[in-house]
Amino acid sequence: MNNNKKLVIITGPSGVGKGTVLNELLKMNRKLWISISATTRNPRKGEIDGEHYYFLSRNKFKEMISEDLFIEWAQFADNYYGTPLKSVKEKIKDGFQVLLEIEVKGASQIKKKLPDSISIFILPPSKDELERRIRKRATDNEDSILKRLKRAEFEINSAQNFDYVVKNESVEKTAEMISEIIKIQN
Ligand code: 5GP
Repeated sequence: MNNNKKLVIITGPSGVGKGTVLNELLKMNRKLWISISATTRNPRKGEIDGEHYYFLSRNKFKEMISEDLFIEWAQFADNYYGTPLKSVKEKIKDGFQVLLEIEVKGASQIKKKLPDSISIFILPPSKDELERRIRKRATDNEDSILKRLKRAEFEINSAQNFDYVVKNESVEKTAEMISEIIKIQN
């Protein structure tokens, strides 16, 4: 894939606010596109198939893996998540800067495959605050919340593997910092 600087990876623990920050970024720049991932997890209340995620069965997801249709995929809290290659390629060709909101294992896969891509790790203000945010979302069951918290430890420890680390104290400030990073790199 050419023009890899057009690919921006936003990673960090579940609940850190990656999605909210990205939506704020979209308001600032019209030439950005947020990739729609595929997942095997069940939709949360209000999530729409084809808008928030493509919600797939495990069989369908595995079929897509074997057909090499993902740029990256990973397992997270008992489910599969992956970025479909086709739409990312098309949007980059159309001149968009493409943002991927993904967990750290997938983010590392992309950095290896496409070293020119830009990776940004979002840190929570503190671990307590992250737990508060995950619990406040109140859409996941206790088992899933505990898995996410355990995984967050591992994820936060891998922050230094990415090009930039930004602490999410406020959505507006974080979005502005990311906007600056993207501008410098572009
Ligand atoms: P959630 O279930 O909270 O929507 O997502 C769980 C985690 O999976 C989050 O850290 C989210 O960023 C990540 N994720 C979402 N889509 C993808 C994807 O396509 N690939 C990978 N590797 N992670 C993803």
